[in-house]
Amino acid sequence: MKHYKIAVLAGDGIGPEITHEALKVLELIEERNAVTFELMPAAFGACAYFEFGDAFPQGTIDICDKADAILKGPIGLSHEESKKIPVDKQPERGALLPMRRRYNTYANFRPVSLPKALAHFSPLKPEIIGEGIDLIMVRELVGGLYFGSKERGINDQGLRYVKETLEYDELQIRRIMHQAFKLAMKRRKLLHNIHKSNVLMSSVLWNEVMEEVAKEYPEVEVVNYLVDAAATALCLKPTQFDVMVMENMFGDILSDQGGGILGSLGLMPSACLGDDKAYYEPSHGSAPDIAGKGIANPYSMIGSVAMMLESSFGMDGEAKNVWAAMQGVFADGYSTADLSKSGSGVVMISTQQFGDKVVE
Ligand code: ATP
Ligand code: MG
Repeated sequence: MKHYKIAVLAGDGIGPEITHEALKVLELIEERNAVTFELMPAAFGACAYFEFGDAFPQGTIDICDKADAILKGPIGLSHEESKKIPVDKQPERGALLPMRRRYNTYANFRPVSLPKALAHFSPLKPEIIGEGIDLIMVRELVGGLYFGSKERGINDQGLRYVKETLEYDELQIRRIMHQAFKLAMKRRKLLHNIHKSNVLMSSVLWNEVMEEVAKEYPEVEVVNYLVDAAATALCLKPTQFDVMVMENMFGDILSDQGGGILGSLGLMPSACLGDDKAYYEPSHGSAPDIAGKGIANPYSMIGSVAMMLESSFGMDGEAKNVWAAMQGVFADGYSTADLSKSGSGVVMISTQQFGDKVVE
């Protein structure tokens, strides 16, 4: 009997609601396989700040340290609520970035996927979706602007100023490129390299290292795309993309756009992999506007469980079953409020009902 320890960080906003559904699925997986999951819940995010004065408290660090994998809900507060927490203690700066740094989870995989049969969820025309959207964004997660030095003060003219630095070294770029090329080898052998080398020196180095790594994967076709052009192309011809690789901030922004072309951020799970530790989280935030209403889409969180089953536990078959079960719920004509727009013929169900139907 295999035994895995999973740190469960339900997070803020809709986090606890969608985590609840994800755990139902894990429980079922446990029943169906020779495996036990030891769930270790811990406070993380704004909820942890209010309880312990720290968004990533020591008790949570200890639990994550000994976990085989971390399942993490979204964190954060609404713009107004977040003013109650000092800037450096805010959930993203005080918990999310420290976690990424601690476990060096440099490779963030964000699938953006919508089969043809679900084209009606998307704001794009059916002819743009064609045979379906099925791409994965590979986002560098521990470098760039989000991790560079930061400075804020008053300059010589008495004006408030800020300075944030964007740094990458070649090792950081090389390792994410290997991840992207390896994934491309398993898929369509097509890699879109996203950059802004006409303006940013960081992108010049990015592209140089990409070309060096590309020599080790001669079968992979590389297409270079400026990030701004890629944003347009994602709306106009998303089916051209298969694997896309990009630095940290580009990935943050483009992947939210990925959620947009699918019809909802609720369809965006992700995996964040380091060499020795991995955590799994929805790509979206805590959605304070719909928290506590029982209407959030748990697909992103259940999909993150599927990614955990595959990447951390080697349970590829069960991961496929989870994806299929969720597609089955949609195929039966149900979805949560984010996707069941009036007149679409889709029957609206709650967060819990979605989880129940997946288990069913
Ligand atoms: P962050 O900066 O933490 O990424 P954000 O500002 O990008 O947060 P989100 O919290 O991700 O914002 O939410 C953006 C919008 O998407 C909100 O209107 C929210 O209701 C919607 N949304 C996000 N996740 C879901 C979900 N799982 N189900 C339904 N709607 C969602
Ligand atoms: Mg966001």
